Amino acid sequence: MLLDQFKSFVRENVPLAPYTWLQLGGNAKYFAEPVDAEQLQRLVAEASRHSIAIRLLGGGSNVLVKDSGFDGLVIQLIAPAFQKIGIQGNRVTCGGGVRLSHLVTACVANGLAGVEHLVGIPGTVGGALRANSGTEEGDIGHAVREAQMLRRNGDLVNVTGNQLAFSHRRSSLDELAILEATLELQPGDVKYLTKREQTFWILKRSRQPNHPTRSALAFIDPDGESAGELIHRTGFSGLIEGSVQMNATHPNYITAGTGATADQVLALLEKVKKGVHEKTGVRLQPHLVVW
Ligand SMILES: Cc1cc2nc3c(=O)[nH]c(=O)nc-3n(C[C@H](O)[C@H](O)[C@H](O)COP(=O)(O)OP(=O)(O)OC[C@H]3O[C@@H](n4cnc5c(N)ncnc54)[C@H](O)[C@@H]3O)c2cc1C
Repeated sequence: MLLDQFKSFVRENVPLAPYTWLQLGGNAKYFAEPVDAEQLQRLVAEASRHSIAIRLLGGGSNVLVKDSGFDGLVIQLIAPAFQKIGIQGNRVTCGGGVRLSHLVTACVANGLAGVEHLVGIPGTVGGALRANSGTEEGDIGHAVREAQMLRRNGDLVNVTGNQLAFSHRRSSLDELAILEATLELQPGDVKYLTKREQTFWILKRSRQPNHPTRSALAFIDPDGESAGELIHRTGFSGLIEGSVQMNATHPNYITAGTGATADQVLALLEKVKKGVHEKTGVRLQPHLVVW
């Protein structure tokens, strides 16, 4: 294969469905799990040299893979080198492959406040930083002070201060891979923070489908409005396309059933987007990233 020299950690024709929450879509031409940043850098530089398209996969909770699959290289930061959490005073440095839930738990256990409201958001820290994930209580971006990313040519870049920009579900961390980030949090009482984390967890569970696997958040909340509220008001909650449905109780979630396809998800999203626009004038933007 083109990436022959990396065959110890690159596989070919790997089904991507098991790696995503919707469990849909075709194969990746190449799938890599590098053991450390140096291996990752060499792989990315070589793939770029051959003009191979590259995507970073986190927890797969916000990705829809097309039925035709992805004709390129998918990389997952699953190795221990990308899973480190280090705490110094009120600063937490965290690998891009760390589960967001692990980061939240580590901060709470160490008496650091500021991310406990993110409990229950699936995926990795890298995915959360890319989308500036959050809740009404705030997003992850407000706490970020520094980040290390990998560019498509294999170069590393550190960003800090005013190079960091976060807005609603958007961030300036848009290089190929977010390898690490440092968050600044506030000191807090462990018992109090644990209670807060539990309360947010209960709240989060009440606001998403009961069995969230095979679900995804469909649209970004438009300015000052809730996408779910708009979908409900315009009569599109519960809408079905093949084996895919807009959740009837939590209208901004899309759920895939047996026999679902990525094409059905795309068709349903398009119908809802078009319908909401026709009825309200609001253009919903997709939350899901399509590969
Ligand atoms: C049940 C459910 C509930 C959810 N609740 C919320 C919520 O309350 N708030 C919210 O904001 N979102 C929510 N989401 C959406 C989703 O969980 C978030 O967007 C999450 O942060 C995505 O992380 P991930 O690791 O799964 O990313 P993926 O789905 O794997 O990837 C999403 C995007 O991020 C990029 N990416 C992933 N890792 C990296 C990295 N290390 N470097 C660079 N790019 C990377 C991918 O290339 C892709 O473009 C929910 C989703 C589900 C299914």
